[in-house]
Amino acid sequence: MSEFLPSNVLYVDLSKHLHKTENRHELFEEYIGGTGVATQLLLEECEKGADPLGPGNVVVFAVGPLVNLYPMASKTVAMFKSPHTGNLGESHAGGRSAVAIRSAGYGAIVIKGVSESPVYLAIHGDKVFFRDASAYWDMESTQTVGRIIRENEPGSGVRTIMRIGKAGEKLVTYASLVTETYRHFGRLGLGAVFGSKRLKAVLVSGKKIARVADMRLYREVYDTLFNQQTKSSALQKYHDLGTASNILVLNELKGLPTRNLKEPCFEDAEEISGENLAEKFLGRRVACAHCPVACIHLATLREPYVDESYFYKTTWVSYDYELLYALGCMLGVSSVHGALKLFDAVEKWGLDAMSTGVVLAWATEAVEKELVTKEETLGIEPKWGDYETYLKMMGLIVEQPNEFYKLLARGVDKAAERYGGLEFALAMGGNEMAGYHTGPAGYVGFYTGARHSHLDSAGYGVDQKEVGKTEGLTPQSIVDKLFKEEVWRQILSSLVICFFARGVYTPDIVIKALKTVDLNFSEEELMKIGEKILKEKYKFKLQEGFDFNKLRIPSKILEIESPNKTIKRETIEEAIKLYADRVKA
Ligand code: SF4
Repeated sequence: MSEFLPSNVLYVDLSKHLHKTENRHELFEEYIGGTGVATQLLLEECEKGADPLGPGNVVVFAVGPLVNLYPMASKTVAMFKSPHTGNLGESHAGGRSAVAIRSAGYGAIVIKGVSESPVYLAIHGDKVFFRDASAYWDMESTQTVGRIIRENEPGSGVRTIMRIGKAGEKLVTYASLVTETYRHFGRLGLGAVFGSKRLKAVLVSGKKIARVADMRLYREVYDTLFNQQTKSSALQKYHDLGTASNILVLNELKGLPTRNLKEPCFEDAEEISGENLAEKFLGRRVACAHCPVACIHLATLREPYVDESYFYKTTWVSYDYELLYALGCMLGVSSVHGALKLFDAVEKWGLDAMSTGVVLAWATEAVEKELVTKEETLGIEPKWGDYETYLKMMGLIVEQPNEFYKLLARGVDKAAERYGGLEFALAMGGNEMAGYHTGPAGYVGFYTGARHSHLDSAGYGVDQKEVGKTEGLTPQSIVDKLFKEEVWRQILSSLVICFFARGVYTPDIVIKALKTVDLNFSEEELMKIGEKILKEKYKFKLQEGFDFNKLRIPSKILEIESPNKTIKRETIEEAIKLYADRVKA
């Protein structure tokens, strides 16, 4: 039995304002940490068939055995039942969250129940406080909430502050949880689950130190990882331009969804490119804890104060590829100033940027096609590129003054089921699409990944390698590649490795790193654990009503040619069937 694992689990009951800690050593020995342990805790603690916005749902945060020991092993996995898809909710974020949770002495935190009045949790090591958060409810900005809690809350050591904005309070099903500044548990509505529990924020601080079993091996593995991370050209790219460098690459390939995928490339891609932003707007780069790469790019947004001449408010706004896609080209926004205002708004209100952008893009096309009346939009007429109107609509999605905005606050599937336009409602498995119209593997990945995220199995990468090859991709070859990748990613996210470091954390180095905390696995054993975790996730999804046979394919993705030619419905359908057989086997 390894004594070097963060195996304490903190259980918090918001209904009774009680907490307890249990050592769940067996879970960490078997499932490592992160996503593996979180899946088991979700299966144990979430009531079957629970209302995602009711007391039977739980929030699990889990970290891994390499946190606080190795660089780029500092993500936290959050797991819950998603109010957006009705099944598995899983989202990852960095910042200082993982480092703080482990430093406080925990490998996982399970939060259940519903508080009678708004609270925030302050977890200082083994002391847990339920603080009154009534004064923070309805505050305009997540940044303000974070700053006030930071100033008022005692506690030295490493500290994280995870909090929701108005979107979470108002139960927008794609509300995010903001951690520190510029990091998010973005997808699948963790913010709404917090809101439903009247939980405004969770602060964690601690001073505990992680230990290793073999110091000599630890130094060797650490040096190898650090050297590779600081010398790798692939990681240098994340530092220099960040993921924003993808804009021009995907535009050139004609795989950049533009104006709700009416086109696969954007005439103003240069303007919103990572290169242009770095040259004219980049002001700082910041990093998650224990990361030498610093891929988080911050631009300056300068806006004049009303009624004051030559007096400007300057705001730091983070940007990356996903934001530039969803709130840039997807909405036809070519003004960087306008795009930054939209990025700042999703941060302020705590909205998932990708779902927000795709929802607004659907609404624009629905208005163009006269499926929605002016009365329903409250007189607003969205037009491609008109960022001021999109800002107003975002505010209305948060406030939900009528049925139209209430449905937009639940995603494109729900809105299109009511108003029509399912053929251009770009959600796969209920989750709005990421910015990759690269070919069939990308879409199969969106449909079959346990989170319906591009990060599950990175099908877009498979497509990009195939461009120009005559043999093409078959359903079987797609499934073989995606399944293997998703299985290995279960291990990386159980260790809570940043996926940008996946080329550095190879099976060989992972096996050695695990030895330093007295966990001994072969590559084959790790792959078996990865497969088991993936199947357990599917067990939860199927138990909660997910059905492979009900996945909807919007005809828009088949009509617009991708870099791998026209995508065929049969290819996607056949691949979904094959994937279903694999995860159910
Ligand atoms: S590469 Fe970026 S996302 Fe990954 S750990 Fe470093 S700063 Fe965080």
